[in-house]
Amino acid sequence: MTLATDSTIDRNQQLFDRARQVIPGGVNSPVRAFKAVGGTPRFIQRAQGAYFWDANGKRYIDYIGSWGPMILGHGHPAVVEAVQKAVLEGFSFGAPTEREVELAEAILERVPSMDMVRLVSSGTEAGMSAIRLARGATGRSKILKFEGCYHGHADALLVKAGSGLATFGNPTSAGVPPEVVQHTLVLEYNNIQQLEEAFALHGKELACLMIEPIAGNMNFVRASVPFMRRCRELCTQYGALFVFDEVMTGLRVALGSAQSVYARSIPGFEPDMTVLGKVIGGGMPLAAFGGKRAVMEQLAPLGPVYQAGTLSGNPVATACGLATLKEIGKPGFYEELGRKAQLLISGLQGAADKAGVDFCGDSEGGMFGFFLFKELPQNYAKVMTTDNARFNTLFHGLLDRGVYIAPALYEAGFMSAAHTDADIAETAAAAADVFKLLSK
Ligand code: PMP
Repeated sequence: MTLATDSTIDRNQQLFDRARQVIPGGVNSPVRAFKAVGGTPRFIQRAQGAYFWDANGKRYIDYIGSWGPMILGHGHPAVVEAVQKAVLEGFSFGAPTEREVELAEAILERVPSMDMVRLVSSGTEAGMSAIRLARGATGRSKILKFEGCYHGHADALLVKAGSGLATFGNPTSAGVPPEVVQHTLVLEYNNIQQLEEAFALHGKELACLMIEPIAGNMNFVRASVPFMRRCRELCTQYGALFVFDEVMTGLRVALGSAQSVYARSIPGFEPDMTVLGKVIGGGMPLAAFGGKRAVMEQLAPLGPVYQAGTLSGNPVATACGLATLKEIGKPGFYEELGRKAQLLISGLQGAADKAGVDFCGDSEGGMFGFFLFKELPQNYAKVMTTDNARFNTLFHGLLDRGVYIAPALYEAGFMSAAHTDADIAETAAAAADVFKLLSK
């Protein structure tokens, strides 16, 4: 292809200019626009394994993996085959299929805290529906979330903390009337004292507490074990449903998801409801929410809580999800994925240490994060003290060297089964170069 070799033409820039004429900001999801980091977004032409290629034909090692779904890497042959077969059988029927039942069974087997699950098409839809169900099932209106956790862009969830504890949140987006978020309480992540005070004041009115157990929307911040234990105890004590948003962590940090990671430290630990997305669809639009039978049976057509979707349980998406689940269920899959994520973090740490740059990182299974700090942050306020300019230097330095990390400092990274130790060594070498710039 001539375009790929003609370095005078920047096809990414051309496409971005064209896109901005017809799509707001040139993108269909804001973070893709590189607004935080500046520069021209890369328009992706194709992907295979651990790599994708932009419109100029430049190759990148891909550490976003479509923001989590591509746990096997791109174009895994078994998944491609399943999708091709499904496409030939039909794109969408608007009537039930065996594959939906199979996928529901497969999800419940892996995340056994749920008795039943409903399939939808996006994490936003799943989170929004879980909140409605929690409210319907408890007959309560108030919900509790944490600053820095993202649960999709449903109105009631686009909220930041108010001016003090026990004040309800303020909308983070225009178009969300304050009345719509008046029932949403926002607290600091990992702050047990605030949590206890909030439950003492509002516990009996809370339909649910929703949490990202390992918050990937503030890069990578774990809920501490004592904090998680207290969340569980207080929800039980006050009759609020404990909702785990595992859209990102689900079947990503472990086959049993983040809840299985916490159950290692808190025996018998389970949330009441779980929200899933990303990995369960293997890159196709598919998400889910589920929980205990008594709660799930409140949903239409059985119960009074309405929820529906034309493309819910789509036959091509379920085929993609099922094929993905089959691969990730193979023995040793998560051990290897976790080993590689750790190898990456230690490689980056070594490079940063050598250059004298403050750095710390963490990972669980195939999800990782790192910060230009000496110590891992515990909450959103701390994450947001990151020096933007330094992060942007790191991001663009890596991008120039063919390594694509999330174009925002508050996003997690994702390892896939397709990444090799050689890819990781290449990444660490690129980082070593860039850290030299940061140490000056
Ligand atoms: N919850 C979490 C934890 C997420 O990370 C995301 C998306 N990144 C969502 C919900 C929303 O999912 P979607 O983008 O599929 O609507």
